[in-house]
Amino acid sequence: MKALVLEEKGKLALREFELPATLGPRDVRIKTHTVGICGSDVHYYTHGKIGHFVVNEPMVLGHEASGTVVACGDAVTDLKPGDRVCMEPGIPDPDSRASKLGIYNVDPAVRFWATPPVHGCLTPEVIHPAAFTYKLPDNVSFAEGAMVEPFAIGMQAALRAKIQPGDIAVVTGAGPIGMMVALAALAGGCARVIVADLAQPKLDIIGAYDGIETVNIRHESLTDAVAAATDGWGADLVFECSGAAPAILGMHEFARPGGAIVLVGMPVDPVPVDIVGLQARELRLETVFRYANVYDRAIALIASGKVDLKPLISASLPFEDSIAGFDRAVEARDSDVKLQIVMPQ
Ligand code: ZN
Repeated sequence: MKALVLEEKGKLALREFELPATLGPRDVRIKTHTVGICGSDVHYYTHGKIGHFVVNEPMVLGHEASGTVVACGDAVTDLKPGDRVCMEPGIPDPDSRASKLGIYNVDPAVRFWATPPVHGCLTPEVIHPAAFTYKLPDNVSFAEGAMVEPFAIGMQAALRAKIQPGDIAVVTGAGPIGMMVALAALAGGCARVIVADLAQPKLDIIGAYDGIETVNIRHESLTDAVAAATDGWGADLVFECSGAAPAILGMHEFARPGGAIVLVGMPVDPVPVDIVGLQARELRLETVFRYANVYDRAIALIASGKVDLKPLISASLPFEDSIAGFDRAVEARDSDVKLQIVMPQ
């Protein structure tokens, strides 16, 4: 079985790769259809590590996937061969304290696709627990199914924010995750979402959605835009999605007194935070790490038409061209949102 393998930093290969192939009683075997390229896949490709996760041996990339069930373990009752599905890539220990608390995303034992030493899903078939495999409604395509994973982070951010109907939100950073957060915030009840970034092509894409305004901070003031939208009061919610040190240092300035900041973006290195700035407005601070228990909600929103992720798919490439796809993902960071790879069917 061929897979897209990160051999080492900067070196990808499309080659035969044997993955463990035992179908447990609660597992399903899935023929993968569409896999999105994530910023983390690209980061492993270009840097060979993220924080303390280091690629020390060849690893299959990819964790944003949809596909078709081809076989089910004996104990699987809610899925059957032929079902179109998407897969949640992080598998916790079901008996862990975190799992019992419903916060399995922060289970120290979680095994997450394409996070060393766990292999990802850029391979024609995967075996996955049925409990983390979700049926796609007929009106949700495989391409959209592969967008559920990044959208799930937006869902987690929206839930952590505890949005109230009519809230005004600011999103700093218009990368794919910032866009997902903006769309989830709107779906969650925000009346207006102001998205700020430096890359105009990305702002144009997200600004095309109703309810979303954009600010190019290269030549516009986000402070002024927030003041204009809120009569100088400040935004109810600030979603920090850039991970950039200056944005993190100034994030409190956009929030209203008593508002909240949701930290989604991940800085590469530790960054300074203005504690007094946060305290002086008594801001609530929330953090987001991946997601838990949001896939059903995410799929329901996509199926309802309330969230349309299709405009965020910049291109889809055949599996044979996936190395070129990764190189494009490195080069076109400011104009592409999501590149997807379609597996041979
Ligand atoms: Zn991802």
